[in-house]
Formats: sequence, structure tokens, C-alpha cells
Amino acid sequence: MRTKHETPILVTRSSLPPLEEYVEMLKPIWETAWLTNMGNYHEELKAQLKAYMKTPNLELFVNGHMALELTLQAMNLSGEVITTPFSFASTTHAIVRNGLTPVFCDINEEDYTLDVDQLESLITEKTCAIVPVHVYGNLCDVERIQEIADRHHLKVVYDAAHTFGEELNGKGVAEFGDASMFSFHATKVFHSIEGGAVAFRDEKLKDLLYQLKNFGITGYESVEYVGANGKMNEFQAAMGLCNLRHLDGEIAKRKVLAERYRERLGGIPGIRLCREQPGVRSNYAYMPVVFDGFSATRDQIFEKLKAFNIFARKYFYPCINSYACYRDQFRAEDTPVAQRIASQVLTLPLYADLPLEVVDEICDIILEQ
Ligand SMILES: *Cc1c(COP(=O)(O)O)cnc(C)c1O
Repeated sequence: MRTKHETPILVTRSSLPPLEEYVEMLKPIWETAWLTNMGNYHEELKAQLKAYMKTPNLELFVNGHMALELTLQAMNLSGEVITTPFSFASTTHAIVRNGLTPVFCDINEEDYTLDVDQLESLITEKTCAIVPVHVYGNLCDVERIQEIADRHHLKVVYDAAHTFGEELNGKGVAEFGDASMFSFHATKVFHSIEGGAVAFRDEKLKDLLYQLKNFGITGYESVEYVGANGKMNEFQAAMGLCNLRHLDGEIAKRKVLAERYRERLGGIPGIRLCREQPGVRSNYAYMPVVFDGFSATRDQIFEKLKAFNIFARKYFYPCINSYACYRDQFRAEDTPVAQRIASQVLTLPLYADLPLEVVDEICDIILEQ
């Protein structure tokens, strides 16, 4: 008989460096009493991340959401922004909080990123930008999106929260579009407790992003923009520096687990996994599984796992265009693929220290009817 786990198995568990390593990093902070406002660790982390992500222009933020919101502000946009309803709340909130109007494009059945075939039909004279999401670490069709954006003179800002460290044919994902936002939240593959960054193409954005995350202050006695407080502090940066040392090992551990899931669940009728994308170096952030015509529904599998104290997550359910705060303005039926996938998808537990036996157990529970 299978027994219930005593401590719950959650969908993710934050990676942590050895405690001594982090404590060692704190000493210089005590010596200098420099706790935030672009200190030494902030600058060091920025430099290391540029190298790791293979990108020349990068700014750090207190979290991914502020990075996205302030990047859109920096671009001084107005009008409509085409985006996906199949994402975390942050993506659309960043658009709306900038006074912009989201226009939801449906997703494709393959990798759940924007359905590029529909993209162009949503462009109007008011469209100013596209904010696609590399959801679950699946890369969008970056080439076609760029082609369409160029033809219509639109900005492209990727929500790349899930794609830290990923590469396409050796090129860092931060290189696509006008800008890409990365999240370093505790639940992400790489984290700085809370944190985020934006990589950007136009060097001129650098000063503006810096100012916008610091209240719009442009000089000792001048404030030129209605900025916010989006600064990453030294404790966050220190955690980021520690975690970066161990990151490749953590990703390698995730890979083993992800491959076991694929081995056990791939090819089962009624179960769909995302296809591995050719040329992509994955970070194995998530293990989304779509139950479509399987002997049990997504919700039944969710409950079944829960009975053993295993908590998969319904990422991303519900779709953003059916949130209470947006329901009056949008119809989820207008993006039927996103609506259906949201009702069928379950993201299974996946984190570096998840024991392989638990992956097997999760697969057993799913497969035994
Ligand atoms: C995590 C996440 C964000 C927001 O990142 P924070 O660092 O938590 O602010 C934005 N978009 C997506 C898709 C995310 O998963």
C-alpha cells in the first residue's frame, strides 16, 4: 500500500546554497553598512549575469514584475499591447498598470506560446507592442514575432520569467526582441529570494531604467519621471551570487528528473507533454502535463495526488482574461485554446532536490486507474 507523505511534496522547493556560504557573504555588508541602492554585490551580480546570459545590456530589479512594468514605462508606449492570457498575473498587470490596453491572442497547441498565425489579425492602428511569454521555458516563435513586429513597427518585450539561462542555437534568449524580463523569485530556477532583471537591445534604455527603478530621480535636485522603487538590495544580490555558483548543478539535477517524467509519461494515450524544442538548451523549470482524453481528468489527477500529500499546481488556470479584475472587459471564449489547455494542464512537482523515487511514485499514481 502506498502511504501519504508526511511532509507535503509541493510543486517546487527553493534551491538554497550552504548556509555558511551565504553567511560569509554577509560580512562585507556589515563592514560597509551598505544595504541597498546599487552596492557592490548588485554590481557584481549584474556583471556575472551578463556573462551567464550572454547579453550586453542588463539591469537588476527588486522583482521580475517591477522589471517588466518599468520596462514598458521606459518605452513610453500608448495604446494596445498584444499578449497571451496563458501566463501568470504579472504579464497583463504590467501592461494595465502602465495605462495600456491588453489584447489577448490565443496560444498554439504545440508549446502554449502565442499563436503567431493569429497575431497579425489582432494588430490595429492603436497597437504599440507585443508582450509574448516563453511559457514553461518554451521559446516563442521569436523569428516570426520579430518579422511581424518589424513590419508594423511594434516593440517586442518578452516575459522571459521562465527561461533563465536558456539558449537557442548557442544564443542567449535575452537577445530576442527589444527587451526580455527575467524573474529571480524564490520559486524560479535561479533566484535571489525576490528579484528580477531586464535585458534590452537599445543601450539608451540603461539610464532610464536605472532612473525609473529609483523614483525617477535624475540628479541631486531633479526628478524627471514618475518612477517607482524597484531596486534590488544587497541581501538579494548576495543570494543571487551564491546561487549562481551552484546553478549548473541544480539544472543538471532537474534534467534527470524531467527525463524520468518524460520516460514514464511520454507516449501514454491521453497524456500530452511539451515537445523538446530543437536547438534549445532547456533549464527544466517546469513539467506541465496536459490530460486530454485520458482515463482521468486533470482535476481528478490533482485530487488523487493530493490524497498522498503531493501538490501539483494548475498552472496556468484560470486564464488571465477570466480573472475577476478583467472579466468585464474580456471573454475567455475568445481564446479557446488557452481556455481549454488551462482546464487540462497540471504542472507536476519538479525541483533539484526532488527524489527520483517521488517522480516514479507520482507517475505510478497518475497511471494506475
Ligand atoms: C514569476 C513570474 C513573473 C513575476 O516575477 P516576480 O519576480 O515574482 O515578480 C512574471 N511572469 C511570469 C510568467 C512568472 O512566472
